[in-house]
Amino acid sequence: MSTSESQPSLPRNLFPHQTPAAASSSTEETKDANGMTKLPNGVILDKDGKPCRLCTSAASWRNLTKQAKAQGATSTPATTKPTPESTTSTSTPQPRDDCPPDVEALGRSTWTFLHSLTASYPVQATQEQQGEMRTFLKIFSRLYPCWVCADDFRNWMAEPSGRNEPRLKGRADFGTWMCEAHNEVNRKLGKKEFDCRFWEERWRTGWKDGRCD
Ligand SMILES: Cc1cc2nc3c(=O)[nH]c(=O)nc-3n(C[C@H](O)[C@H](O)[C@H](O)COP(=O)(O)OP(=O)(O)OC[C@H]3O[C@@H](n4cnc5c(N)ncnc54)[C@H](O)[C@@H]3O)c2cc1C
Repeated sequence: MSTSESQPSLPRNLFPHQTPAAASSSTEETKDANGMTKLPNGVILDKDGKPCRLCTSAASWRNLTKQAKAQGATSTPATTKPTPESTTSTSTPQPRDDCPPDVEALGRSTWTFLHSLTASYPVQATQEQQGEMRTFLKIFSRLYPCWVCADDFRNWMAEPSGRNEPRLKGRADFGTWMCEAHNEVNRKLGKKEFDCRFWEERWRTGWKDGRCD
């Protein structure tokens, strides 16, 4: 499937000033000094200059498709084509579980995977296991589908002092490291940090109060 199939149909002058090399987040809503339409808040462009759905929240994506429609896009965005299950219209779109993920849904699923990876990591890992995990994290940080997230994650790991390098000797180290990595993103997004002393109760054993039993 080509990338354009998953993109809203946008007016051609929506972001003519944004080249692929300048792909970035948009922070303005209306028109610029040249009368060119700007992207709604929070819409992140992909490296090819097209809106990156997996880098953008569902709310910002909806604003983008609304804006595109309002500006007279000729074809209906793929995201809102009627399907047999979506024939009724509501004024406020309800979150659905059969649509492509936004940056948050992708993130939640991925953190579940990443923390579960630490939960199932050996208590003491062999050199080979450590090597495999190091390779995985390197590849993961290049291929994660939200490219801005991947870039930041990769840069965080490569911090010059070496203090953020993956700690892979065993489960305790790796679980705490992953928690710190997650907290780095939490901080960036203005979210509450997680107390890393409890990563294992959250992701492996269940809470001591028995609520997960
Ligand atoms: C590698 C990576 C980079 C990302 N970068 C960005 C980005 O640049 N911009 C962006 O908008 N989104 C990014 N995300 C997505 C973002 O981190 C969240 O997943 C998303 O915003 C949804 O957040 P949430 O509040 O539902 O909970 P999430 O942050 O997804 O957390 C899920 C659950 O994990 C637990 N948890 C929270 N913090 C920790 C922790 N430190 N350790 C252990 N458990 C924890 C909590 O129980 C929480 O409910 C990234 C995701 C990943 C995997």
